[in-house]
Amino acid sequence: MPILIHNPGSIDFAKPGKHHYQVAFHLDGTWGYSLLPLTVINGRRGASAENVICFGGTHGNEYEGQIAVKRLCADLDPGAMAGRVVLIPQLSESACNANSRVSPLDGVNMNRAFPGKAHGSISYRIAHFVKTRIFPLGRVVIDIHSGGKEGAFPICASFHPIPDRAQQAETAAAARLFDTPFVFIYASSIASGLLTDEAEAEGKVTVGGEFGGGETTSRKGVRHAYEGVLNVLRHYGLLEGEISKIRPAGAPPQQLVKADRLDQYVPCPRDGIWEPVVDLGVAVNEGDLIGRLHDFSDHGGPALEIRARRAGFIAMMHLSARPSKGQTLYVAAEAVDWSAVI
Ligand SMILES: [Zn+2]
Repeated sequence: MPILIHNPGSIDFAKPGKHHYQVAFHLDGTWGYSLLPLTVINGRRGASAENVICFGGTHGNEYEGQIAVKRLCADLDPGAMAGRVVLIPQLSESACNANSRVSPLDGVNMNRAFPGKAHGSISYRIAHFVKTRIFPLGRVVIDIHSGGKEGAFPICASFHPIPDRAQQAETAAAARLFDTPFVFIYASSIASGLLTDEAEAEGKVTVGGEFGGGETTSRKGVRHAYEGVLNVLRHYGLLEGEISKIRPAGAPPQQLVKADRLDQYVPCPRDGIWEPVVDLGVAVNEGDLIGRLHDFSDHGGPALEIRARRAGFIAMMHLSARPSKGQTLYVAAEAVDWSAVI
C-alpha cells in the first residue's frame, strides 16, 4: 500500500528506488481527505538533468491518462532506470472518483486552477502543491487528457505555440514520440490556468494531448499514452532502448496541425440536433459541408448547414448530438510542415 503523507514537506524526493505515496489534502468543509496518488522513482543507474513528470486524471472523466500513468507506476523498474520520474495518475482525485471533469468538492476544474493557491479550496491547494513541490523535480512535463463529454478528437499529442524556438523544437520532438496520427498545436487563448501553461512558462518541455473521449477507455489511446511516455524516457536517457513505433507498420506520416487562433474554434450558432457528415481527422476545403443542425420544431424545413470556413483538418468536433448555442462545434486546424517547428 502507498505510504500516507500528511506533510508534503516530509517526502524525500531524492530517495533511491520506487516509492508510492498518498498525499492527504484535507477537505474544505468536512473531516476527511482527498488522497492524491503519487509515485516517485529515482533510478539506480545515476542522476539525470532530464527528469520527467507525468500526470493523468487532471480531468476526472478522462481515463486513458489515469490508466497509462497507473500502469507506469507499477511497471517501471528503478533498477533499469537513470534519473527521476514522478507519476501522478489521478491529479484531481476527487473528480476521478466522481467521473467528473471538475471536482465535486469545490466545483473547480483542475486544469484552470494553476498556479494554485496555498490557502484556496482543495483543487487550488493541489495545484499549488504541483507548482511548488512537483514542478521543481523535472524538466519534462506530460499531462494526458481525453475529450471527456465535451469534444471528440483524433488521437493527438499537443502543445501550445511557444515563442522560444529552442523550447518549441524540443517540445515538438517530445510530442512526436507519442506517435499519434496528429500532433496538434492549440491556442493558448482558448483558456487560462492550465497545468501546461504553467509548466511552459517555467521553460519546461511540456506535452499534452487528447487520447480518447466520451468517458470511455480507448485501447489505442492507452497504448499511445503508455508507450509514448516510455519513448520520452528513452529519448532523455532515463530508460535504455530504441524509440518504439506505436502505430502499425505502414501508417502515414504524423500530421502536424495548428489551430492557434480563436476564429478556428467555431461556435454552434444555435441549439440543435447535430448530424456530422465528416469524420474526425479528415481534411476539408473551404465551403465543404461539415454537418447539419436540425430543428425538430419544423421537421419539414431544411437543416442549417454548417460549412467549413477555411480549409483544414477536423481536429475536434462536438461530441454529443445536442450542442448548445455557443459551444465549440468543430475546429479546423491548418497543416503545418514539421520544419516550421523542429
Ligand atoms: Zn482534459
